Amino acid sequence: MKKLEPCFRCNAQLTFIEEHKDVSFYYCNNCERRYSKKGDKQITDAWLSPISTVLYGIIFENDYIPDEKARENAEDLKHFSKDELGQIISDIEEELANPKQRLIDMLNLHGTEENTRDYLKRIVVLIKDIHQKKKNI
Ligand SMILES: [Zn+2]
Repeated sequence: MKKLEPCFRCNAQLTFIEEHKDVSFYYCNNCERRYSKKGDKQITDAWLSPISTVLYGIIFENDYIPDEKARENAEDLKHFSKDELGQIISDIEEELANPKQRLIDMLNLHGTEENTRDYLKRIVVLIKDIHQKKKNI
């Protein structure tokens, strides 16, 4: 059994769920978050986590992500509810203020960690704008 880091949000012991190919999945019973870990890499949020939905649009971007691309990706998030957008915003802000994971490992991004964080910094402003205009339903 591999030694496992605790949940990086609440420090509780993670529960192993399953292993699929090279990826292990974990769950935090305390804060109800799902995590994944690929090979020897560190734990990251699992697929479909709030941050992953924002990173999905830049998987194949090798270089600096243009503002235009960030705008397009923000538009693609419009179908999320106000609550879901609020969660995406708070997760991004928390990660930027206090980095806990290697973002490029979450979805095997082709770009650099630095460009990914810079992209998040810009897209979160756009998502906040969508969130603000969204009706509370
Ligand atoms: Zn937790």
